[in-house]
Amino acid sequence: MEEKKKPARWVCLECHYIYDPAKGDKTQNIPPGTPFEALPDTWRCPECKILKVKKGVFKKLED
Ligand SMILES: [Zn+2]
Repeated sequence: MEEKKKPARWVCLECHYIYDPAKGDKTQNIPPGTPFEALPDTWRCPECKILKVKKGVFKKLED
């Protein structure tokens, strides 16, 4: 199956927002299908909006 190729979801440890690559983030012009790893450096959590929260505060969801 293709399961392993699906980009992982990532959760913000501050507010528990989940970044879902299938949805992207339309509030920051991230198109659906964008893996977390490919987010621009300017991207930040849309819920808690902490600057530079990015990868340090996000944790990969394994399921
Ligand atoms: Zn957050």
